[in-house]
Amino acid sequence: MKLDLSPVLNGEVKELPFSFTQNVLDDEASVYFKGLDMTVRGDIKVKGTVRDISGYCELDCTVSLPYSTHCSRCGKETEGVCECVFQRIVSSDGSRLEDDEYIVYADRQLELDGPVYEELSISFPSKPLCKTDCKGLCPVCGQDLNEGDCGCGHKNENDNDKATL
Ligand SMILES: [Zn+2]
Ligand SMILES: [Zn+2]
Repeated sequence: MKLDLSPVLNGEVKELPFSFTQNVLDDEASVYFKGLDMTVRGDIKVKGTVRDISGYCELDCTVSLPYSTHCSRCGKETEGVCECVFQRIVSSDGSRLEDDEYIVYADRQLELDGPVYEELSISFPSKPLCKTDCKGLCPVCGQDLNEGDCGCGHKNENDNDKATL
């Protein structure tokens, strides 16, 4: 995802809107989403604006990516859309490369891949759920409690909560 900044840098426009819809290559995804239980299920959508604010530029970006993962309680495969919104200061100053607030461009081209994937990986839920009230598996017999009580006589935390109310 490369954005040509020329119109802003030349002073032709104050605001440069952009929008990309793009395939996520497996290689790319495996580098950025390493360690996450995430399978990409569709195109990545990136849109935003680069704004000229007298002397420097600011990037506003909204990203979404459909994925599938496994519920952290019951283990069932579940789908979701990972979304994030972020801002960066756009700079040509290479010494800012290590600074998280900055995104550095070269040859008037802004490479968005790194920040976009990085933000997505941060926004990915650490404990994904198939539904917010997933009951999980019985800790004793392993039955999926969403499909009904197993009857093995276990007490789960939810039952305890109810008893104290
Ligand atoms: Zn679940
Ligand atoms: Zn049970």
